[in-house]
Amino acid sequence: MIIFDLACPHEHHFEGWFQSREEFDGQLAQGLIACPHCASLEIRRVPSAVHLSRPTEASPSPAAGQAVKSVPIDLRAGALAAFRQLTELLLANCEDVGSDFAEEARRIHYVEAPERSIRGEATAEEYEELLEEGIEVFRLARLKPGDLH
Ligand SMILES: [Zn+2]
Repeated sequence: MIIFDLACPHEHHFEGWFQSREEFDGQLAQGLIACPHCASLEIRRVPSAVHLSRPTEASPSPAAGQAVKSVPIDLRAGALAAFRQLTELLLANCEDVGSDFAEEARRIHYVEAPERSIRGEATAEEYEELLEEGIEVFRLARLKPGDLH
């Protein structure tokens, strides 16, 4: 079985299936091959359009371009993910004492409360006072889920 790509004078393209090249020639000579679109009998063979029009599939350049462009985005997403992970780790290992933070930090510092990591809310004033007392605290930018998107 041979498949020929055929065309009529109106540039209608279609496929013809033949047992052999001779059968195609014979049917063509007898006017047995007609264009399925306009019934023209002036049929000619054309180079296979299917096999000649595939460069887009084989060409790697568009994909390569996309990969290069996506690198900065991936890095940014990775950094954000790492930052989020670090923050979550930090927060997960700290006891949230809320607005009692300054008081609780003092109690821990003066061994009035079990030593542990805490987090909570402190005013700028409280924060300065704690530092002045030699209590190790640090400020973490308040994170909302929306901040990281
Ligand atoms: Zn036609």
